[in-house]
Amino acid sequence: MLKGLTAVVTGSTSGIGLGIATALAAEGADIMLNGFGDPAVIESLRAGLATEFGVQVVYNGADLSTAAGCEALVEDAEERLGKVDILVNNAGIQHVARVENFPVERWDAVISINLSSAFHTMRKALPGMQKRGFGRIINIASAHGLVASAEKSAYVAAKHGLVGLTKVVALENAESPITCNAICPGWVLTPLVRAQIEARARTEGKSVAQAERELLIEKQPSARFTTVEQLGAVAVFLSSPGAANITGASLPVDGGWVAR
Ligand code: NAD
Repeated sequence: MLKGLTAVVTGSTSGIGLGIATALAAEGADIMLNGFGDPAVIESLRAGLATEFGVQVVYNGADLSTAAGCEALVEDAEERLGKVDILVNNAGIQHVARVENFPVERWDAVISINLSSAFHTMRKALPGMQKRGFGRIINIASAHGLVASAEKSAYVAAKHGLVGLTKVVALENAESPITCNAICPGWVLTPLVRAQIEARARTEGKSVAQAERELLIEKQPSARFTTVEQLGAVAVFLSSPGAANITGASLPVDGGWVAR
């Protein structure tokens, strides 16, 4: 369905980003991977996707905590893939602490990676999309883009900001065939969430299995994790012709979290 299109997926060496990159590649899109990790593992992911789906897959390890890194990523994608049709802003980090104890350096890092990076990649990718008359921007926000939890000030601020930024870009491009939407996942069992489960087990003196169950039940009425494959399917849909008039939306994929 996406043959002939190219996609940049930030933070796609792990978790949700990798799930989305895989789903887009399976539909025929050429892919720019980005993110950190062991170079040998990343190269095997890159080569594996290219071989399995017969698409072009390239990698750029730009650090998206800086404007220069974001610019370099988009420029490299335009150079090596020829254009950027689909931009998925997914890279993100978490830090958990009360506001009065929140390290300033962690606040800055969360805001730059989870929010500012999307501004920088979009401002670089939009002119090409506008010139060609096509674009699909998908920002991976969170249930925490719509509601809050204690001890996640930077993350909640960044994700609420990303939902707002998504609406602005949607409005600015509303009359063109460029859409900009946010996906708002609830709990997904990725390394980012595993770290929170393990911290909870340590702090509360519980087993990891028990901490996992409690974390899920506390917020997500379905009591099931959202999977990276489900998020990949939503990203494919938002990139498809059927979603051409969906723009400025924030779509919860959260087992009912924000319905409460
Ligand atoms: P993850 O830790 O598995 O993956 C994060 C990815 O971002 C990795 O590829 C990592 O290398 C990359 N990354 C981190 N810092 C970077 C930087 N400075 N520059 C470039 N890449 C960087 O996490 P995940 O759970 O897959 O999260 C992906 C996105 O989904 C994040 O934006 C997160 O906030 C969001 N999200 C996750 C959940 C969840 O439950 N896991 C829920 C809602 C939203």
